[in-house]
Amino acid sequence: MAKILDGKAISASIKEGIRVRVQELEAIYGQRPALAVVIVGSDPASCSYVHSKVAAAEYLGIHNLQVELPETASEQEVLDAIRSLNENRNVDGILVQLPLPRGIDEEKVIEAVSYEKDVDGFHPMNVAHLWMGGKNMKPCTPKGIMRLLDESGIEISGRRAVVVGRSNIVGKPVAKLLLDRNATVTIAHSRSADLGAVTREADILVSAVGRPGMITADMIKPGAVVIDVGTTRGEDGKLHGDVDFEAAREVAGWITPVPGGVGPMTIAMLMENTLECFIERMTGEKAGIVK
Ligand code: NDP
Repeated sequence: MAKILDGKAISASIKEGIRVRVQELEAIYGQRPALAVVIVGSDPASCSYVHSKVAAAEYLGIHNLQVELPETASEQEVLDAIRSLNENRNVDGILVQLPLPRGIDEEKVIEAVSYEKDVDGFHPMNVAHLWMGGKNMKPCTPKGIMRLLDESGIEISGRRAVVVGRSNIVGKPVAKLLLDRNATVTIAHSRSADLGAVTREADILVSAVGRPGMITADMIKPGAVVIDVGTTRGEDGKLHGDVDFEAAREVAGWITPVPGGVGPMTIAMLMENTLECFIERMTGEKAGIVK
């Protein structure tokens, strides 16, 4: 029976460290980190994600500033809101909740966020640094996955990793972070032939697709580490991962639950990125707190 990679518990301990650090830094600098969240429209899923992020920030003593724009907001209004947050010296991190309503160019909006305040790590400058191996803002979900592996003492170097999914926000960056840690990495996608044969090679299998139950037990190498990024809201109102959890846990060595695996780690990393931006603003140096 697989051991559980408990993202909820690990993220709680990371957040506790951040909470203490925020207090220490406030005692030194008389200020706290501030995170601005831009939300356009009232998509229920987006509102729920924003709520979790705001609640985490509040708990940690991170100021949060919510900029709410109506569904009908023009692209220019969104860009103007971002520009004013870029210029606000008291704002450390800016997050634009995606997806944006139709008619607003997401790429343009992502590029408008100052890359130094880009706590999501989506700005092309941060993406470029990621691929060049520089010190940059790492995207939250891939960074959270790496931390989950590290905190659980899982060896990465020299092992075969398979990432299913090649999105810019999860699949590609997590593959690069695994490569940086000397895993031998394969990226699979919707056109990959015989996906099961590919995934069965994996010592570390990351699935970031968004299709409940698509990774079945027979696609998993016995003893493998299985990271399920997928989160799909079912008709039952519950979140479902990509992995057939009950059957997979009989085969895998380690496995993340959904919910309670990657999701809470993503939020913890968002808070950590905000703290890093704050430390950089206060000290003029890249924060050294983060692996
Ligand atoms: P995208 O839709 O952008 O990407 C999905 C990827 O899955 C694509 O690369 C696609 O391939 C691939 N894919 C689709 N069908 C198959 C298939 N049958 N076999 C193999 N690959 C397939 O999704 P995201 O990366 O944004 O998100 C993926 C999942 O992770 C979603 O469920 C999302 O909700 C969740 N998520 C969870 C987070 C968390 O914090 N827990 C954070 C971010 C996302 P192709 O490129 O060929 O189309």
